[in-house]
Amino acid sequence: MELTDEILKLKAERNAVILAHNYQRPEVIDIADYVGDSLGLSRQASASKAKVIVFCGVDFMAETASIINPEKTVLLPAEWALCPMAMMLSLPELLNVQKEYPDAETVLYINTHADVKAHADCICTSANADKIVNSMKADTIIFGPDRNLAYYVRKRTKKKIVVVPERGLCPTHHMIQPDDVEKARRAHPQAELVVHPEVIPELQDIADHIASTEGMIMYCKSSPKNEFILGTESGIIHRMKKEMPEKKFYPASDMAVCNTMKMITLHHVRDSLRDMKHKVAVPKETADKARKTIERMLSVK
Ligand code: SF4
Repeated sequence: MELTDEILKLKAERNAVILAHNYQRPEVIDIADYVGDSLGLSRQASASKAKVIVFCGVDFMAETASIINPEKTVLLPAEWALCPMAMMLSLPELLNVQKEYPDAETVLYINTHADVKAHADCICTSANADKIVNSMKADTIIFGPDRNLAYYVRKRTKKKIVVVPERGLCPTHHMIQPDDVEKARRAHPQAELVVHPEVIPELQDIADHIASTEGMIMYCKSSPKNEFILGTESGIIHRMKKEMPEKKFYPASDMAVCNTMKMITLHHVRDSLRDMKHKVAVPKETADKARKTIERMLSVK
């Protein structure tokens, strides 16, 4: 039996839904029921009647899906797909900064582990980070772990932003450097530069548009332009081309590939469904606390 047929058969037998992040391998994206960003996918998971969620993404995303859907079984086909950015913020480091700023509130990027989320006041995504920060009561906000997203937020708020850890960033987005973008712009002078807020400040400052992955897709759909240089993980180009075959997309850098996102293969998806592995387990107390911080984010209009 073909691998994809086997996956579809197992999916039906297990009453499962397959979710894939925009940065996954093309063949994994093609077999998924839903493709999107981490929060969008978790919402899809809640709306689905499936009992099992196969989350093709990285560890913190599967954890988030499990926190939001405690009654469902969440599988991460490659349990070794650990996001380097999420690993940059440990709970002791966060608690130390919170001690230093007792009057501050804490807003953490969704790219964090469950134990760290549980100690935040609110979670944010790259789509709503500025809105969430501006909705908080405190004048000082502890924000982490992405210093580049913090730069984006600082430009859109009057609040004092304390970044934790100061070194926090996404190594994949950090690979996109001004020289790469200049080269891409010279090769495609008509193209608009659309970047993710995880890119370095120098690139945010010269971009035509800054948005989350879903925001980038929406922007390219609505723009009258036909060519785009994309400053994010290059996997997004597969989805862009599928949804907008009449438009042209170029990576800002060929180096912007997240190896962690590419760890999941179709074989892993098949094995995951066949053997019901690897189950995501977030301790109940941690999950209950983390869920509140996610629900607070969802309540911000
Ligand atoms: S693209 Fe960056 S933030 Fe996303 S999983 Fe890869 S390393 Fe983590």
